Amino acid sequence: MAKLKNFINGEWVESTTARYDEVPNPATGEVLAEVPISTAEDFDKAVAAAKKAFEGWGTTPVPQRARILFKYQQLLVENWDELAGFITMENGKSLGEAKGEVQRGIECVEFACGAPTLMMGSQLPDIATGLESGMYRYPLGVIGGITPFNFPMMVPCWMFPMAIACGNTFILKPSERTPLLANRLAELTVEAGFPNGVFNIVHGAHDVVNGILSHPDVKGVSFVGSQPVAEYIYKTAAGNGKRVQALSGAKNHSIVLPDADLDNAVKNIINAAFGSAGERCMAASVIVAVGEVGDKLVAELKKAADEIRMGNGLDKDVFLGPVIREVHKKKTLGYIESGVESGATLVRDGRLDEACSGPGYFVGATIFDNVKTDMKIWKEEIFAPVLSIVRVDTLDDAIKLTNESEFANGACLFTDSASAVRKFRDNIDAGMLGINVGVPAPMAFFPFSGYKKSFYGDLHANGKDGVEFYTRKKMVTAKY
Ligand code: NAD
Repeated sequence: MAKLKNFINGEWVESTTARYDEVPNPATGEVLAEVPISTAEDFDKAVAAAKKAFEGWGTTPVPQRARILFKYQQLLVENWDELAGFITMENGKSLGEAKGEVQRGIECVEFACGAPTLMMGSQLPDIATGLESGMYRYPLGVIGGITPFNFPMMVPCWMFPMAIACGNTFILKPSERTPLLANRLAELTVEAGFPNGVFNIVHGAHDVVNGILSHPDVKGVSFVGSQPVAEYIYKTAAGNGKRVQALSGAKNHSIVLPDADLDNAVKNIINAAFGSAGERCMAASVIVAVGEVGDKLVAELKKAADEIRMGNGLDKDVFLGPVIREVHKKKTLGYIESGVESGATLVRDGRLDEACSGPGYFVGATIFDNVKTDMKIWKEEIFAPVLSIVRVDTLDDAIKLTNESEFANGACLFTDSASAVRKFRDNIDAGMLGINVGVPAPMAFFPFSGYKKSFYGDLHANGKDGVEFYTRKKMVTAKY
């Protein structure tokens, strides 16, 4: 069985740790590899390498850096299917979804290839007579990235291509639950011609994270993961004087109005609630059914959910794969039990689906109706294929209820009414909105924006925010 290594200074290095965690395929339970839970000593080696590499990389002409990223993009395209296979094996999502994730990662690299334009500053030749002023962008230095299990390719690609294109060097701490794909990404950096030490991987958990948060040579921290960890990362890194962005958990609401195209709404909600086993920060986890649409919507969702094919994501036509671990399955079953106990109507019980008896960590599509805002299944992020439906009378009620959530990542509206769209857009308190679509995840050239407990920081991931985050500005005022 493969014992994974860290990637430091262009070489595969064995960790100094005595602790290795097993990485099972969540669809079968079969152990794929062992991942080192690396030590502070391993991390320090990576920082030293990244710091040294920054001396040359930070001043390498930007078009030259971009050319290496163009090559990297080409390699990702050539290896698309293999990369998707890794994602399905270690994460469980269907191969179709995994291919889509690879595409999202590639788009981030494509955006980062625009660094020569994106890094331009600005000048004003005459701020006073004979006096000029200009703004110049420079990289920060060593950046640390900490990523979650649910998008092993896309989320690291939100970070390192742009950070590196801007002249920084990078240390990635991938999720210890999905470490395989990251190593393949590292192999391809070698083929693309990234100089040694520009991109590094240190596998592990708390010790590596704490190294990223406290090491004086790490200048910026990008984090994506669950809410309590995001809050800890933000406070600790900021307390240590680092630039930090921490994208966090979600509880996304989709409002359905009576004038919506019901077939479109059902198709999109099924995909958004149960695709990737509900393990998406942009998953639809609450449906707010307005007025008379409720009964028909619930019936149609149940019918569509009954037709979902569950199984190993590598098998043809499988839509719903497993959740990530046995412990996550148990937690999800606990939420379903809590929904029943608190009086919600269990419209579809995913516990009864055949695949749930194992092997693998399967939970079937589960739907609750008549959910209330004092229930745990409404308040908390479940991160599994469990959908809650809340009934209200008007769009105003729906917006008010949605805004009561402590999370504010995404929200969707299904309607045919332009004035409803405008009211929703102006009044909903979330960062990424969808109109008649289920998963309104912005593309790489726009920011990925959440609010409230869904995001800690100022500059979001991707888009021009990404360029701002990975560069610092110098102002020069000059007289000749
Ligand atoms: P997680 O918080 O458990 O882990 C994320 C990373 O933090 C991992 O690399 C992990 O090793 C590390 N980590 C975990 N616990 C830690 C601790 N106590 N101290 C230090 N480091 C720790 O998240 P996850 O389960 O891997 O991912 C799912 C979560 O990520 C969900 O809440 C989801 O909504 C969120 N997410 C958010 C976005 C977004 O854009 N807002 C995108 C993807 C995922």
